[in-house]
Amino acid sequence: MNRRRRVYEGKAKILYEGPEPGTLVQHFKDDATAFNNKKHDQIEGKGVINNRISEYVFKRLSEMNIPTHFIRCLNMREQLIREVEIIPIEVVVRNVAAGSLCKRLGLEEGAQLSRSILEFYYKSDELADPLVTEEHITAFGWSNPIELDEIMQSALRINDFLSGLFVGQGIRLIDFKLEFGKVWENDQLRIILADEISPDNCRLWDAETNNKMDKDRFRCDLGGVLEAYQEVARRLGVLVEVRPPHGTVPILVSSNANNSYD
Ligand code: UDP
Repeated sequence: MNRRRRVYEGKAKILYEGPEPGTLVQHFKDDATAFNNKKHDQIEGKGVINNRISEYVFKRLSEMNIPTHFIRCLNMREQLIREVEIIPIEVVVRNVAAGSLCKRLGLEEGAQLSRSILEFYYKSDELADPLVTEEHITAFGWSNPIELDEIMQSALRINDFLSGLFVGQGIRLIDFKLEFGKVWENDQLRIILADEISPDNCRLWDAETNNKMDKDRFRCDLGGVLEAYQEVARRLGVLVEVRPPHGTVPILVSSNANNSYD
């Protein structure tokens, strides 16, 4: 029986109380949802892959001095994270036109944007995460102008770094969503990157074929969702194939020898 206290359950993740004050356990589920929960399914193994991909990306971002909530991986589906006060804004960074941008402005999917675009959405299931401006965010007190500046700078740095990281593996970073939180550190408020970065919240296209390697495969019923996520993990070096006696199954490997998967 799971006796841990559940702090929050979202569409793809559960947060449990952590082992020490100020920590939480982030558990990745296999649930896939789209269109504000109207489409829902289970993709067996997705949570395990997203845990590994997100761990890998957050570690690389920490090395770039981008503060994140990630502390360490606990097991195949869970990571220990810092508890933060989530800023109720989804920050979307776009390099290529896709998804809601195309619908809203009548653009053709795949059109290269002349510069990266930052957008903000207010996190509200009831309102289906409406697009908002900096003015709304500061006027309604969801974040203040200084924090928002820091968030925007951080989002653009993350975009530069991740675009390069993925391109090195033959993947185009089309767009992605970030969430940030606030923590107190030595009497100072700090903004840190929270949530996850995985094919659930990025659009990733194969650089040669433009094949989709992300949640659009689920949204648009393209099939091969798990295979695409596995391929992203494989290219990032966090998935290897082994040959057990009864055929080939993918297993997840750690990028850090000190990681324990207990
Ligand atoms: N996204 C997300 N969660 C959301 C909305 C968007 O992770 O609630 C991600 C999405 O996967 C994509 C980017 O943000 O990589 C831009 O999404 P878009 O605004 O085009 O909306 P969508 O097409 O997902 O409705």
